[in-house]
Amino acid sequence: MAYEYDDQNIFAKILRGEIPNDTVLETEHTLAFNDIAPQAPVHVLVIPKGPYVCHDHFALSASEAQIADFTQAIGQVCRLKGVQPGEGGNGFRLISNAGADGVQEVPHMHVHILGGRDLGRMLAQE
Ligand code: 5GP
Repeated sequence: MAYEYDDQNIFAKILRGEIPNDTVLETEHTLAFNDIAPQAPVHVLVIPKGPYVCHDHFALSASEAQIADFTQAIGQVCRLKGVQPGEGGNGFRLISNAGADGVQEVPHMHVHILGGRDLGRMLAQE
């Protein structure tokens, strides 16, 4: 079953400028903006500008230029937010939820960058 991208999702509307966002970084292929409901002092969403549903869709379908731009944008946001553990920051976590089991809310590929506090263990214990 092929991915079908819904261009009415909220991040598509942000990319079209129909909904405002608090931009942290914009590059040729990528937009990073603060999450509207932050779960940590640093909570930035990084999205590709292309119509990809989730991470595997992006990883297997996007161009090398798009993937390189996206990966570098994540590093740039970490630098801008001062969370790089090798550069005096205290670290961060990357999360990319996908599909039902991943509890993905918005069906446009995104990575969460979380930091600014101790984030605890990766998953809640069952
Ligand atoms: P998901 O569960 O899909 O990985 O996460 C979606 C994220 O998008 C959530 O953290 C939610 O707070 C955020 N979000 C939903 N709607 C908006 C919006 O209109 N603007 C921004 N900046 N973030 C949003």
